[in-house]
Amino acid sequence: MDNVRVRFAPSPTGYLHIGGLRTAVYNYLYAKQKGGKFLLRIEDTDRTRFVEGAIENLIRSLNWAGLEIDEGVMMKDGKVVEEGDCGPYIQSKRLDIYKKYVDQLLESGHAYYCFCTKERLDNLREGQKIKGQVPRYDGLCRSISLEEAKERIANGEEYVVRLKLPHDEDITFEDEARGKITINTNEMDDQVLMKSDGFPTYHMAVVVDDHLMGITHIIRGEEWLPSTPKHVYLYQALGWDVPTYIHLPGVLNKDHKKLSKRQGDVSVEDFKGHGYLPEGLVNYLALVGWSPEDNQEIFSMDELIEAFDTKRIARTGGVFDVKKLDWINSHY
Ligand code: GLU
Repeated sequence: MDNVRVRFAPSPTGYLHIGGLRTAVYNYLYAKQKGGKFLLRIEDTDRTRFVEGAIENLIRSLNWAGLEIDEGVMMKDGKVVEEGDCGPYIQSKRLDIYKKYVDQLLESGHAYYCFCTKERLDNLREGQKIKGQVPRYDGLCRSISLEEAKERIANGEEYVVRLKLPHDEDITFEDEARGKITINTNEMDDQVLMKSDGFPTYHMAVVVDDHLMGITHIIRGEEWLPSTPKHVYLYQALGWDVPTYIHLPGVLNKDHKKLSKRQGDVSVEDFKGHGYLPEGLVNYLALVGWSPEDNQEIFSMDELIEAFDTKRIARTGGVFDVKKLDWINSHY
């Protein structure tokens, strides 16, 4: 396959979680196997969750794990730098780019300005919850013309931009690990694309960036699966080719719940601090959610690169088992 380009796109909200490292590992293995590129992009459009120092820490953790970044955000001489022709690779520096495409969607009728106040939206949500309905925007502002909206904006009214989904249309995409997935637009919300602070939401930014950065395969956690139909619709609305999706099963605790801080070590930093070797952790994580054709359990990075196969990614969550990690780690 030509020019495989994958990306790891963490939000700088704290230390790198081992679930995040596993996502990075799968992206890296895939890129290296196909002779492609592994990019690091920082998704920091939610300014309320930004943690000082998190970008540096994310890169250090990836470097420690042996995942060399080919393009995007990296560290040189102890400083965060951005390298590559698609930059900047830190989303908060790309606001003009997102605005351009939001404007394009507004002009083509695939998006609309929404002036609903927080109070109205809260009441709407409450009412829907009481009725047992899924909270969803009711489309009140869909009929406001562009002209009227621009006048209201000129008069200082606050607004967001929403995706204008068509009624009752199927959106279909192929997930390389899970097969064909179809969702009807009636089950989807008119997603906010641009917030009142002028920042894009994750959904807008991720589509624009993955397209402009030439990403061919999106390998990410399954928590993003419900968002994918919105993204596919955005690709279509912008006239772009839809990349290949591969959603990964979760990394779970013994009770098959999301692995969380309360149960002990969850960040790469924790494991590093407790003396685990990067080779051991990467080898173990690769096996949480993917299985090789034979029963081999101890892999060098090169062997993992060769054996990795997206068709053998599990559909259900993998349990993180420290005993197994210890056993693998003891081989290094
Ligand atoms: N910024 C998202 C996260 O931190 C990444 C989502 C994606 O890979 O599309 O989980």
